[in-house]
Amino acid sequence: MNVVELKDRLLNLVEIFEEKEGLLTELDRAIGDGDHGVNMVRGFKALPDNIDDSSMQSLLKSTGMTLMSNIGGASGPLYGFSFVKVSQVVEDDINDKNLKTILNTFAEAIAQRGKVELNEKTMYDVIKRASEAAENDEKLTEEVLQSYADLTKDIEATKGRASYFKEASIGHIDPGAQSSVYIINALIGDE
Ligand code: ADP
Ligand code: MG
Repeated sequence: MNVVELKDRLLNLVEIFEEKEGLLTELDRAIGDGDHGVNMVRGFKALPDNIDDSSMQSLLKSTGMTLMSNIGGASGPLYGFSFVKVSQVVEDDINDKNLKTILNTFAEAIAQRGKVELNEKTMYDVIKRASEAAENDEKLTEEVLQSYADLTKDIEATKGRASYFKEASIGHIDPGAQSSVYIINALIGDE
């Protein structure tokens, strides 16, 4: 995937988040404050006016900066910081080989910024598992990513706003895990 293709996929996320806004709102209403859908739409709507597509590095860095200042909430700095970190390791083209580095860097950035581990019911659960799957040469698809988000349903949240719900957070998919399905799906490409 080259810079033009990745730019298309990132810009297309605004349509995906508009389509999924209701779902993300519903998930965040159950175990948060209900703003995750609106936050993601606002962040991705700001992309067309703010991204620099002169190289793969600048595309990912400008995406990160834009998301950081436009998503808001807990998720804005997490996604924003991660895209900036990924921009520091990306090559001109994303392929099966360097996708491992990209996903590992994304996961490490979330862990560092969110001080989060696996099974705390956050976006990290999807991103870390995606990174592990890539590392093991397993095929990643949107369905596989969704299965990782679904795993957050039956566990208790121990990070972020959802942790205030304690055991009442069980039974709901984490909203950030759900939004990560769409973001990571954009990065992995189609082939
Ligand atoms: P807020 O919680 O401030 O309203 P959002 O609703 O936009 O922000 O985002 C909530 C999502 O952020 C959660 O569903 C979770 O996936 C993620 N999140 C929150 N805190 C952390 C953390 N410390 N580490 C990783 N992810 C987190
Ligand atoms: Mg929220």
